[in-house]
Amino acid sequence: MSTYRVLVADKIAREGLVPLTTDNRFELIEKPGLKGEELTAAVAEADAVLVRSATRITRESLARATRLKVIGRAGVGVDTIDVEAATERGVAVMNAPAGNTISAAELAFALLLSLIRKVPAADRSMRDGKWDRASFNGTELYRKTLGLVGAGRIGGEVARRARAFGMRVLAYDPYLSADAARGMGVELSTLETVLKESDAISLHVPLTDSTRGILGDAQLALLKPTAVLVNAARGGLIDEASLTRRLTEGKIAGAAFDVFDQEPLPADHPLRQVPNVVLTPHLGASTEEAQLNVALEIAESVKAALLEGDFAGAVNAPLVGGDRLKRLRPLLDLATRLGRLASALAEGPVSAVEIRFAGEGDDLLRPLAAGAVIGLLEGAIGAPAINVVNALHLARQRGIQVERTRIDAQLDYPNLIELKVQAGAATTRVVGALLGEGHPRMVRIEDFQVDVIPRGVLVVLRNRDVPGVIGRVGTLLGNAGINIAGYHQARVAAGGDAMAAISVDARLPGTVLDSLRALPEVRSAVIADLGE
Ligand code: NAD
Repeated sequence: MSTYRVLVADKIAREGLVPLTTDNRFELIEKPGLKGEELTAAVAEADAVLVRSATRITRESLARATRLKVIGRAGVGVDTIDVEAATERGVAVMNAPAGNTISAAELAFALLLSLIRKVPAADRSMRDGKWDRASFNGTELYRKTLGLVGAGRIGGEVARRARAFGMRVLAYDPYLSADAARGMGVELSTLETVLKESDAISLHVPLTDSTRGILGDAQLALLKPTAVLVNAARGGLIDEASLTRRLTEGKIAGAAFDVFDQEPLPADHPLRQVPNVVLTPHLGASTEEAQLNVALEIAESVKAALLEGDFAGAVNAPLVGGDRLKRLRPLLDLATRLGRLASALAEGPVSAVEIRFAGEGDDLLRPLAAGAVIGLLEGAIGAPAINVVNALHLARQRGIQVERTRIDAQLDYPNLIELKVQAGAATTRVVGALLGEGHPRMVRIEDFQVDVIPRGVLVVLRNRDVPGVIGRVGTLLGNAGINIAGYHQARVAAGGDAMAAISVDARLPGTVLDSLRALPEVRSAVIADLGE
């Protein structure tokens, strides 16, 4: 019987490795702290490598990794692993995203309570020999409103704890369905309402293009002067300079941070001088239980990957290999771009998606569905965290129904993909095809036939079919310095509804989009970033 060699390259508690140590199909080589050539040599002998965050798995350390099938990270972030180099070598990279959920939620709550009851400041005063009861008057959580920005695993656990404290919980999470929100006992709302109405705001979103700077100066201005803000998610979500200023000027009552734009937080960082803040050095996952849970989670995943080829938790790795992969690649890319367009056009959280494929290869339907789901959800989850291997699993987890249908070959387009996306009561339909040797095109958006290269930024306008619209739109974009790379106008019948799919060279500022929407003939305008 063959055994799998698992290199444990960082200190990981033995208890957490039980799924592997109790199974004689695995041989564990525990060598924490290897570097350079020693690490490369040890990796070369291994079928799997387990790491936390101390040991960096670089391209160099993978140079002779011919046996290696999987790298397991006991934790969430995979920034210490060269995922690209691993992918090139066909090595799956897996992480353990759920193991620290409770610890992170409890830390957010600990920060919230210490903030509103001023525990750290009172403790400092006691240590200075004082008995000052007047300076530390606090507030209760009972009957207050907690506003969540992001209500996934951790946000959901924070919501449960808040309800136990008798709080009302509002949440802004455009990817959360009404049913899931009801199940959590939270009221879905807009970001603006959450910021305006909440007494305490807690962030639980990943750092992605859509969340970077989500609380900028304009958003922070909406907070009540009595509100407090907690960030135990990621640095980069809040305009730290604006917040520091508002805290100092008394425009926001207090804030607590476990994460920062720059970590470690510089010793002379202005936040350290603000009195009404509570600071911790990224301790969200620093509990005995979280460390054990992430180790158990990754040991189970690596075991399933090696024994059963189950790579559901992988952050990379395609599903088919060899020549099939060559055929799959351009179709997969098209499916993802269609997903991005459908995500931009869909109004509200997606509840179901159907992918219809006309072309040779039944085995491609599943990865293509995964590709479409990547495009639909990458805004919510963050591009590196969702991939062809885990996309369907993530969709299921979010209660999104994914259906796959083979349709008959189409005369004009031998390789055609159609996506039907359900959001609320509305269905969005987009169709793409490969022309000739793999040139991708969007050929239909809703009922309109188009011919658009699915690349870069696309503005999709619905307008009344009257003369002069193209000129007005062109002038507006031109005045804003936006170059039009392609303008495709389509209509179903003369004088009725028309659609324009406009490829532009740069993302439109919000004000330009508002001006487009304000044109009398324009019914709606949506921007889709289809990718490079
Ligand atoms: P999750 O994926 O389960 O939930 C994230 C939620 O954010 C999802 O429901 C998603 O729909 C929502 N979301 C995505 N983009 C959004 C947007 N633009 N606006 C509003 N909502 C949006 O993730 P999780 O496990 O709950 O983790 C949440 C955060 O906590 C992550 O940033 C993670 O890195 C961080 N975290 C921090 C620590 C720590 O040590 N402080 C520990 C663990 C996790």
